[in-house]
Amino acid sequence: MIPASEPECFVSDFEERLAPVERAANEAWWSLATSGTEEAQEGFVGAGKEYTRLFSDRDEYGKLRSLHEDLDSLESPLLRRRVEVLYRMFEERQGDAEILGRIEELEAEANAIYGNHRSVVGGKKLVENEVRELLRSSEDEDLRREAWEASKSVGRAVEGTVRELARLRNQLAREQGYENYYARSLELQEIEAGELAGIMARLESATGEPFRELKIDIDTKLRRKFDVDEVMPWHLSGPFFHRAPDVAGIDLDRYFEGKDLEDLTRRTFDGLGLDVRGVISGSDLYEREGKSQHAFCARIGRAYPYDVRVLANVRPDAYWMDAMLHEFGHAVYDRNVNPRLPYLLRDCAHANTTEAIALMMGALVDDPGWLRSVAGAEGEDLEEDAAKLSAHRRVDRMILTRFVLVMYHFEQALYADPDSGDLNSEWWDLVERFLFVDRPPGRDEPDWAAVIHVAVAPVYYHNYLIGELISAQLRNYLESHITRGPFYENEVAGRYLLESFFGPGAREDWRDTVLRATGEPLNPKHFVKSLD
Ligand SMILES: [Zn+2]
Repeated sequence: MIPASEPECFVSDFEERLAPVERAANEAWWSLATSGTEEAQEGFVGAGKEYTRLFSDRDEYGKLRSLHEDLDSLESPLLRRRVEVLYRMFEERQGDAEILGRIEELEAEANAIYGNHRSVVGGKKLVENEVRELLRSSEDEDLRREAWEASKSVGRAVEGTVRELARLRNQLAREQGYENYYARSLELQEIEAGELAGIMARLESATGEPFRELKIDIDTKLRRKFDVDEVMPWHLSGPFFHRAPDVAGIDLDRYFEGKDLEDLTRRTFDGLGLDVRGVISGSDLYEREGKSQHAFCARIGRAYPYDVRVLANVRPDAYWMDAMLHEFGHAVYDRNVNPRLPYLLRDCAHANTTEAIALMMGALVDDPGWLRSVAGAEGEDLEEDAAKLSAHRRVDRMILTRFVLVMYHFEQALYADPDSGDLNSEWWDLVERFLFVDRPPGRDEPDWAAVIHVAVAPVYYHNYLIGELISAQLRNYLESHITRGPFYENEVAGRYLLESFFGPGAREDWRDTVLRATGEPLNPKHFVKSLD
């Protein structure tokens, strides 16, 4: 048996070296996303290499491997967990230093291509917010088609980079003995491939028929609206058709016209007794030339008080209300992990548990009770809309589920063979199979590469779906056992989340967090029920 104190020293010593480097890497990422300058890109690549270098010592890796193989000999559960977490961090960053560095560069390059992409429509360069707006509201078919095609053109610009990334990621994974990068990612994420396949199959069948009916209904309306025989992707309301702004016959945006979304976000979290003022003050929330067009929550280092920031490009509409509640959902989790935990465990339990909170908060955007009490929506309209709002939520969940199925199958195909000449048609085969959206005749473009996750957040999309499952299960538990009514505007719910979900951080496996916080293991039935 290894004496407990020596592994403890080894891990603590590593944590001490990790802290400043991790903080610098986080800062560099924030600086790149908020400025988009070449200097920031160099800084980001440099900080990334520095970070990766921390994991390059073969002796340390060997030592960690043997600790990991003999976990049971470690008495302290916290130390066991730290070893597990650190082992996975090392495992993700093994391999030839040149290849690892090349991957950093390619990821930064891809980020820059997405960040600087502008869709040229009618001779004008549009940002993503403008393309989204156009596809939501324009009735001009030619213009819609042009906008749709322009938004996909980033795919061609980034395709080579994405394929190269996939090849290199595979090479490293295979050298470590994994089948490919996809398989390695699931394993290091503590997701069991067979279990995930089972969940995907179950959700595919649970949504199959209702989604087909829904799509027939959408198509009927769109054919009438645009006076066409066949519905093409540009008739749909978003560039990827993975959200449902108008398919349930409701204009959610009008609830947010002229509203201060920052204020609504603050009030929503105040209602739970979770103060987000400290996050807002460090955040970068509005559109500006050069900054990333997306939305995310960033944690800068893990020193307490935690420095957590949100990047967004807020406009007063439903899309951005959802995004704000979502990102601040991540932020309250990050801000409230117990700071007395050892460094490596000051983190959320898993990507899927933090997505669960983010999705649960984002979903308030079409919740009639929240719209009334927090967003100040007026009485009569709201009553009329109540049924449509619940249809909207259901449609939104189904579309997300079907889009995750596309990504789940596509990324497996990509990592099975990054050089395949069939990826373009495989992508559209999946879009047709799961979303019932037909490919434009003769189209042979890398539309798959237009999805930013494929390049820079690989093998991640399933976490949104598992996050949805956890979110439905958690909300159900909160409202039936803790608050006995809506969880929002209830400080007891906030306290429960603090103690049961956020506080424990990464001290346990995500399955244990789900079990402890909801009284049962992950159970898809709550989510499936919400699709009825
Ligand atoms: Zn998220």
